Amino acid sequence: MSDRDPQEQRQFALSIVRRLRAAGFEAYWAGGCVRDALLGRQPKDYDVATDARPEQVRELFGKRATLAIGAAFGVIAVVGPRPAGVVEVTTFRQDAGYSDGRHPDEVHFTSAEQDAGRRDFTINGLFFDPLAEEESGRVIDFVGGLDDLRRKVIRAIGDPHARFHEDKLRMLRGVRFAATFDFRLDDATLAATGELAASVTAVSPERIAQEMRGLLVVSGRARAVDLLRETGLLDVLLPELTPLAGLPLEPQWPERGTIWQYTLTVLDRLDEPSFPLALAALAHASAAQLVRRISARWKLSNKETDLACWLVEQQHALLPAEKMPWHRLQRLLITPAINELLALHAAIAEASGREQRHVAYCRDRLRLPPGELNPPPLLTGDDLLRHGVPPGKLYKLLLEAVRDAQLDKTVGHRDEALALVDRLVAEHHE
Ligand code: ATP
Ligand code: MG
Repeated sequence: MSDRDPQEQRQFALSIVRRLRAAGFEAYWAGGCVRDALLGRQPKDYDVATDARPEQVRELFGKRATLAIGAAFGVIAVVGPRPAGVVEVTTFRQDAGYSDGRHPDEVHFTSAEQDAGRRDFTINGLFFDPLAEEESGRVIDFVGGLDDLRRKVIRAIGDPHARFHEDKLRMLRGVRFAATFDFRLDDATLAATGELAASVTAVSPERIAQEMRGLLVVSGRARAVDLLRETGLLDVLLPELTPLAGLPLEPQWPERGTIWQYTLTVLDRLDEPSFPLALAALAHASAAQLVRRISARWKLSNKETDLACWLVEQQHALLPAEKMPWHRLQRLLITPAINELLALHAAIAEASGREQRHVAYCRDRLRLPPGELNPPPLLTGDDLLRHGVPPGKLYKLLLEAVRDAQLDKTVGHRDEALALVDRLVAEHHE
C-alpha cells in the first residue's frame, strides 16, 4: 500500500480506459474512485467498468498482466507497475438471486446503466469518463449520485429494503460511508437498516471485522458506532455494549450522562488510532475479557487481540505515573505500544474532564535520550555464572533486582551490582 504513488495510479487507470476505448469498448472509472475524487479525496484505488467481457479484457492486456480474481463476476485485475498497483476491470453486469443474503447467485453482463443500478449507494453508482472532451472529464450519473454527494446523503439505489435483503453487508457499508464522509443516512435507508439489522449475521465474521475496522479508524468513528446502536446493528454485532446506553457514568450525577456517551467521547478523542486501540476504547468500560470475546468472534489475529486486551488492562496504569518508582514506570514506557496506551489515557482523561498531568509527565520522560530511558543492563546471566552464582530460578529475581536498582540509580557500576547480588544471595540463604 505504502509504495503506491497516487499520480502513477491515476495514470495507469487512465491508460486502461484509453486502451479499452481504442479497442472499441465502452470504459469508465467507476464507483469509489469517482466518489472520492468528487469529494476531493485521494482515491485508494481505481476500478474500471466496461462492456468488454472478462476474456476480452484478458486478451487485450495479456494473460501475464492480468489476474482472473473474480472472473465469474466479471472482475479482472490488471497489474500495473509497482507504484501504480492494480486496477480492477469489471464488465457491466446485473446481479441476480441472492440466496445466501450476501453474494449474487448469478451475474448477467449488461449495459452501463444497469451496472450502475446494481451498485449499493447512489454516491457509489457514478461513472467517470476521463477521456471526455471537457478538460476535467465527465461524470455519468444514472442514479442521482451527484445530488446526494452535494446534499451529503447516503441513499441506497432502488428500494433500500430489497437491496439490504439481497446483501446484508450493505447496511454496514452504509454506516461506514456515513461516518467516513460525515453524511447522513437517508430516511428510508436508515429505516430499512433498522428493520433488517438482525439479519446482518448472514455476513461472515471476517467481513464484519473488516467493516468494523474501517468504521473504527475513521475520524467519524464515534458517530459510526452510535449509528450502529441507533439502527440496532450493535445489538447483533456487540450485544455486550448496548446496556451501557442505559447506565449512568456516575450514579450520583446522572446529568454527567451515560457510560455509552462517555465511551463515544473517548472514541472521538482518539487521533488516527490503530484498530486495536479503537477497539480498546470502545470496550474499555467493560473488561479485557470482553475484548477477547469480540476478538474471537471476529477472528482477529493474536497480535491485535493481545494489544487491545493489554490496553484495556492498563487503562489505569499510568495514572500514578508521577508517584511511581522509576523502575516500574520505565518498564511501561519502554513497551512497544506505549504511545497507544498514552493516547488511550489522554482520551479517557479528556472524556472524563480530568487532568492530564500523568500523560504529559510520561510524554516528557519518553523524550529522555535512549541511553537514559533504557540503559544497557549492568549484568547478564553470564555475569552471574562467572561470579559463581549457581544457575537456577534465582537468576531472574537477581537480574530484576539489579535492573530495578540500576534504573532507580541506587547502583551505578558493575561492582556495585555484583555487591548487591552477593547481599541478595546471602539474604536468600538465611
Ligand atoms: P472503499 O473506499 O471502502 O474502497 P468503495 O466504494 O470503493 O469504498 P469497494 O468495496 O472498493 O468500495 O467497491 C467498489 C464499488 O463496487 C463500490 O463503489 C460500489 O459501487 C460497488 N460495491 C461494492 N460492494 C458492493 C455491495 N456489497 N453491493 C453493491 N455494490 C457494491
Ligand atoms: Mg474501493
